Amino acid sequence: MTIHSNLNIQYTEDTHECDSCGISYATGVTVTDGYGNSILVLTPVARCWNSESWTEEEIMMKLLTALGYNANIKQVWE
Ligand SMILES: [Zn+2]
Repeated sequence: MTIHSNLNIQYTEDTHECDSCGISYATGVTVTDGYGNSILVLTPVARCWNSESWTEEEIMMKLLTALGYNANIKQVWE
């Protein structure tokens, strides 16, 4: 297995404060390679509802797709 480059994975977050709903959080990610090329950018936007946010698993899947893999995850639990 050859190492091609660094991969810099920076989680990002956004918060939104509302008098009615309280604080909402959103998580995204910015991934660049060692040459500064953008691999994946998911920009988090926190809102009262319909926040644009991704779980770590969603981010992993999108990252694998961005890297050119068609990933199949088999769960060991039902
Ligand atoms: Zn609200």
